[in-house]
Amino acid sequence: MRTFRPIITIGFILLVLLIPISGHAESAKTYEVSTGVLNVRSEPSLNANTLGILTKGNQVQVFQEQYGWVQTYYQGKEAWIAKHHLIPLDESQVSQVKQATVLSIETITITADGVNIRSGPGEEYPVIGSASSGKTYELIHTEGSWHKVSLKGGKTGWVASKLTNKNAVNNSGNSEKPKVNAKTLSPTKQSGSLSDRHIVLDPGHGGRDPGAIGLGGIYEKSLTPPIANRVADRLRNAGANVTITREGDYYVSLEQRAAISNSHDTDAFISLHFNAYPILSAQGISTFYYSRPGQQLAKSVQASLYSNVTLYNRGIKREDYHVLRNTAAPAILIELGFITNPHDLNIIQTVDYEQQVAEAITSGLIDYFK
Ligand SMILES: [Zn+2]
Repeated sequence: MRTFRPIITIGFILLVLLIPISGHAESAKTYEVSTGVLNVRSEPSLNANTLGILTKGNQVQVFQEQYGWVQTYYQGKEAWIAKHHLIPLDESQVSQVKQATVLSIETITITADGVNIRSGPGEEYPVIGSASSGKTYELIHTEGSWHKVSLKGGKTGWVASKLTNKNAVNNSGNSEKPKVNAKTLSPTKQSGSLSDRHIVLDPGHGGRDPGAIGLGGIYEKSLTPPIANRVADRLRNAGANVTITREGDYYVSLEQRAAISNSHDTDAFISLHFNAYPILSAQGISTFYYSRPGQQLAKSVQASLYSNVTLYNRGIKREDYHVLRNTAAPAILIELGFITNPHDLNIIQTVDYEQQVAEAITSGLIDYFK
């Protein structure tokens, strides 16, 4: 099945639903821009500085109104818009438009000539076609070292991932996505560095437990599995055995998560989460541990995250979390950025970020086991 992951380009499309901030949210209303271009200003005055523009169809969450102006947040700051060109939306319209939020499609590009396209993820599957260098396909799914791609006429096929490069294409038409600092990462093959290691990855929340709710109404539970899968791919490339505690949108209790880890001869348990806070400016990555071995692991991984990713480094901290206390293996819980911070949220949802995190966790583990 195709899995598109919505990328919310805050800054252009506005904050559709803001996390409750000091109780204002219940009274917040959603408006849609009815005119071609509308200025967003720092104060409720035509003489105030322009912070940005909105275009027809953009939605705005309004927290207060005065003298023909409405107050919202723009790129994390208080902002004002003239009410004249805004149409109020009711609940059903809001969710409809939310469905139409910008999508991001992952693609891969073939890096060699005459690459076989097969009917399944392995050399043993029949060849159903061939691809030349430079050809780009939509990526549907990755399994081990094979990519499932979409072919003409609704067909699908498999190509060996080592003969491809992965790209992210943003088809929003808005190019306002902050660029993730493209620190060059070492090539993704370091075969054997984690061989014989068993790593348990624990994507936080799921099912009836949404976790934190971020800007645009995004759920933490829907962000943790994609990044866990990316980390799992990278760890497997490095030779590790990987178990993931949750592989879909269903509820797994904290006891079950610890039990899954304890039922294997686990070398490291890594719980993946995203943070939230009522103050928009809170940002960055933190790693938590409970035991002494967990502290060593936290040090290695946080240091590696610090040198591989661009988000603010909040450091490591001891916390008495259930999954950290009840796992026999060295365990850490990483909060991979704030989904209530526009800057963090924009970066978190990029493939670049997922890859940087995957690389960082892998080299942090290699470091730890040395
Ligand atoms: Zn969480």
